[in-house]
Amino acid sequence: MTTVHNNIVSGPEERPIPAHLSFGQYLFDQLKKGGDRAALVSAETGESKSYNFFLQNSVNLALTLQELGLKKGDVVSLSSENRFEFIVTSLAVIYCGGVLSTLNITYSPGEIIHILNITKPKFVFTSPITAQNVYDSCKDLSYVKHIITFGDFDVIPGLMYNDLMKKEHNNVEDFSLVDVNGVEDTVAVMCSSGTTGLPKGVMLTHVNFLTLCAHYKYYFDSVQEKKNVPIVTGLALIPWFHAYGFITTFALMAMKIRIVFLIRFEGEKFLETIQNYKINMTTIVPPLAVFLAKHPLVLKYDLSSLHEVWCGAAPLSSEIQKAVTKRTGIDFIKQGYGLTEATMACCVDLTSGEKVGSCGTPAPGMKIKVLDIESGEKLGVEQEGELWIKTPLRMKGYMGDKAASDALFDGEGYVRTGDIGYYDKDGFFYIVDRLKELIKYKGFQVAPAELEALLLQHSGVADAGVVGLPDELAGELPIAFVVPQPNSNVTEKELIEYVASKLSPAKHLRGGVIFINEIPKNASGKILRRELRTMLSKQKSK
Ligand code: ATP
Ligand code: MG
Repeated sequence: MTTVHNNIVSGPEERPIPAHLSFGQYLFDQLKKGGDRAALVSAETGESKSYNFFLQNSVNLALTLQELGLKKGDVVSLSSENRFEFIVTSLAVIYCGGVLSTLNITYSPGEIIHILNITKPKFVFTSPITAQNVYDSCKDLSYVKHIITFGDFDVIPGLMYNDLMKKEHNNVEDFSLVDVNGVEDTVAVMCSSGTTGLPKGVMLTHVNFLTLCAHYKYYFDSVQEKKNVPIVTGLALIPWFHAYGFITTFALMAMKIRIVFLIRFEGEKFLETIQNYKINMTTIVPPLAVFLAKHPLVLKYDLSSLHEVWCGAAPLSSEIQKAVTKRTGIDFIKQGYGLTEATMACCVDLTSGEKVGSCGTPAPGMKIKVLDIESGEKLGVEQEGELWIKTPLRMKGYMGDKAASDALFDGEGYVRTGDIGYYDKDGFFYIVDRLKELIKYKGFQVAPAELEALLLQHSGVADAGVVGLPDELAGELPIAFVVPQPNSNVTEKELIEYVASKLSPAKHLRGGVIFINEIPKNASGKILRRELRTMLSKQKSK
């Protein structure tokens, strides 16, 4: 039950996770229960692996890593696309009480070094596609003792995963996991998306992950109770190196939902996978919702098996939400809201579309308050301000940056989100945009997300990103970067007039429209508005 009391919105009560529990032990027990059933299937190759496969291989690897010197609290970095070895390695590290640090596979050497210097890993796992980059970044770092590559061919000096897996251990049967303190011990350092700057290393604990798994169970139970349709097969498309993809996949595995995974988004493959594997559930990011709402290919596929689609990570407009249902027959796309610092899931919409545009109500055990960005005063229903959250999912801190961690919390333990939003009388939240992204036009604050959502409704627009163009008199002027629909001859004038006809004067595209081929986005589907701003300053200096 969601309650609104004293301008604080609270989620349902939650049963706290006992501190002695470890995430590794929980997964270990669930894998055992899964037995020989299919756990994960690669949509790329069609290969399927059982829960037993993951159990046996992860124990084997854990024993090998311990022989190679892995101790409780040691960091192990992992840079890989979604593949079976990713899951085996994560499990093995967690069983040993190690700290898993996943690296985005698109990181430049500079970004890799930035994170490695924060986490100081003893072991680094890499897949062939990232191996050269990773090796170049860490070959001179004295704290890295072993680099281990997945796959069959030697790309770089170091150990081969497949060779390590050939080693047989005689103590597999009586393997016992390293004891941890679930509340205090870090299980993973997950990187924030790096939308506003360099990524931050967010330390999450065993209890954080266990709590999120419990929440997923609660969400799935509520959804299935309502619809009475079982969720048997899920599709994992979000990269596992991001907390959103990582924890969703482990939570689904723990619930014994068979997962079909993809390495990257590619329109036809995505649709074909849903159709062929009769996918019931998937998590997406807004650009994928736009694809479903607008791309001609979508109409050629039977997506009728898909009855749960959850979307998060960036603003999703209610128009796109409605368009997807109307066009594809997929049930209402549910929105969730979260941040890495709060183990991803802060709010989830469990309705069937009664609150379009909302990202739902607070998760169990969570409290949210909305503060006025100037006065800091607690705000009431329908009033926009910055969201602050208090949650059992709160991170332990940023690794290597205590000052930044401390600055994020207030005296009552609420975490500053940097996001602007509001709640309605029933405690449903609506995210407007990030505080940092608001365009300041004269005395007004303009949310780029609102303009982007409107532009996307135009038939000539395939994608859009809006930022503020610096202006001496007004401060900033909204300017749009637009990717036109194929074969469209939409003009700048047409789009300026279109926006002017729909929105109040402060929101008009006074900075103009620039047509480009692609809106820069990061792996979690967020528009990299700082890159759009860089394009603007480059144009200016020409
Ligand atoms: P960084 O902190 O490194 O700049 P980031 O904030 O994008 O990157 P994440 O932790 O992956 O890194 O993302 C959390 C942010 O994503 C939230 O603070 C919010 O701005 C945005 N977000 C998540 N879900 C939603 C949603 N449903 N609607 C709007 N924005 C969302
Ligand atoms: Mg952030």
